[in-house]
Amino acid sequence: MKKEFRELLNEKGRKDFPKVLLAAAECAPLSKTGGLADVVGTLPKSLMALGMDARVITPYHRCIKEKYASSVEHMFHFYVDLGWRHQYAGIEKLTLDGVTVYLVDSEYYFGDKIYRGGQPEIEQYAFFCRAVMDALPNLGFEPEILHCNDWHTALLPMLAKTQYNYDRRGSMKFLLTIHNIAFQGWCGFDSASDLLGIDSRYYTPEFMELNGCADFLKAGCVFADRINTVSPNYAEEIKMPYYAEGLEGILNARAHELSGIVNGIDKDFFNARTDAFIPAHFDRGHLGGKAKCKTALQEQMGLEVRDDVPIVAMVTRMTEQKGFDLVAAMIDELMNTRDMQFMLLGSGDKKFEDFMRGAEARYKGRLASYIGYNEALAHLVYAGSDFLLMPSRFEPCGLSQMIAMRYGCLPIVRETGGLKDTVRPDNKVYEGNGFSFANYNAHEMRDTVYYALGCFYDKERMRALINRAMSTDFGFELSAQEYAKLFICMI
Ligand code: ADP
Repeated sequence: MKKEFRELLNEKGRKDFPKVLLAAAECAPLSKTGGLADVVGTLPKSLMALGMDARVITPYHRCIKEKYASSVEHMFHFYVDLGWRHQYAGIEKLTLDGVTVYLVDSEYYFGDKIYRGGQPEIEQYAFFCRAVMDALPNLGFEPEILHCNDWHTALLPMLAKTQYNYDRRGSMKFLLTIHNIAFQGWCGFDSASDLLGIDSRYYTPEFMELNGCADFLKAGCVFADRINTVSPNYAEEIKMPYYAEGLEGILNARAHELSGIVNGIDKDFFNARTDAFIPAHFDRGHLGGKAKCKTALQEQMGLEVRDDVPIVAMVTRMTEQKGFDLVAAMIDELMNTRDMQFMLLGSGDKKFEDFMRGAEARYKGRLASYIGYNEALAHLVYAGSDFLLMPSRFEPCGLSQMIAMRYGCLPIVRETGGLKDTVRPDNKVYEGNGFSFANYNAHEMRDTVYYALGCFYDKERMRALINRAMSTDFGFELSAQEYAKLFICMI
């Protein structure tokens, strides 16, 4: 154990790390729709590497059953009462890379989609929370910290403290991590009280009421012992109404118990030296392979094959969050005033997809788009492009900018959320590893792109920038150490 942890534990009169159980709707590689799954999949592995006993509890989704049914072991089952419903819940166990994963089995709730949407999704995860609470005494593992993630598991601290007496026993602490504050799990209070027997005294603005709805994430913010989010800067931002989606009151009230830890990325999976998805490999001092990747990307996407032109890329969901209205406002001006190529890989809102198809037709050979999800192409885009544009309106952490830097593709970002924490803007500070602009403003974005394009022609400067970007460490080990410290503080 590292000296730093030993000292922190000593202060608490302890020799060993607290035991932690992560509860989440998804966990990679078992089930995944977004970044939450990556964190829940990677964090316990990295915590175990530090010497901590960290386990996971997650639904036994259909997609998991299809692949892992032969590897799971049935532990026990019981019935969950949700109002008038009486539902089977099985607890299965799976060991994945040394991490114990408890799977909550219910064909009725998890036999189809990970997220059913609307009221069915509220019922799905109300069931999950109740099943977790009822399973806890029989797992044969007594966590000291229950780490809840996003609204799907945010009701756990409230249930534990108002219905299971955990508050008085004080035997378990609750951390709530907010990965995306835009989704809070809203329903009518009638439904929350029907499903989970929540007392009407909690349907007030001090507890779980927001805008006339019962709000699961708000309940989590009220009852969790600590709250954190996926970057320090986003932890500050969500205290402001612009970012907080109505939760600024409770988050300001609990500001002293709110912090942020930047997510990491899988450094083995995103590795320019070994990546199986790219045609040539490269490293900081040896960028020949990157030039080959650029040619391959241009050939594959029907762009003019030239090494003397900068490629600005985006790999993204195409939504308002990602700043697409700024891109739509500026793309013609950029393409008409600069010798540059633009490459987009993404999917999302139809209006932005259509816009990009139109732009592709206007700038044939200079602008290419691939509308859809394509992991292999994403790796080639990162490896073959010079710049990655991320003008997000908000960005809790953001992984694309970190992945891009691993491949020597310099990020051009708006200073929001995790983008501000991970990109050192060379246009503003000494020896940066990317570029940034402050306001959500199309002309600021354009001018920053111009600035970055200017650097492209200064070979020495570009080499130094790429070197610094590729040297920045975004491994999950650093995040795990921060989480370990937070868990120790909580006991
Ligand atoms: P968010 O989770 O908000 O979508 P992040 O930047 O945190 O944004 O993570 C996005 C991840 O999804 C990155 O790994 C990125 O490479 C990947 N990604 C996004 N869109 C695509 C796509 N169309 N094809 C392949 N990968 C994509």
